[in-house]
Amino acid sequence: MTLHIDHDVCLNEPSCPAALSCSTQALFFDPSTQKLFFNADRCSGCGQCVSKCAYKALSLFENSTELSAYLENISKVRTSFSSKLETLLGLK
Ligand code: SF4
Repeated sequence: MTLHIDHDVCLNEPSCPAALSCSTQALFFDPSTQKLFFNADRCSGCGQCVSKCAYKALSLFENSTELSAYLENISKVRTSFSSKLETLLGLK
């Protein structure tokens, strides 16, 4: 399993309920970077962290292929949204 942490959305708090709910410590707050960190080797794929994140910053995937497809889709959506917002604001 692999976990994507959207650091644009994540509050990266030491008291993150998602990280605290991880029974294997696969997801934890790293004080040296001040961000959540994921260790795939420890993850059991239980999905507990995803359900605990109030900001939907976490997404769990079976493998890197699924994650890559997800990231590609997110990139397209963000590009499209930015373009539409610029048009709405008369910036282009
Ligand atoms: S899926 Fe389960 S084991 Fe993996 S990081 Fe989330 S809470 Fe931890």
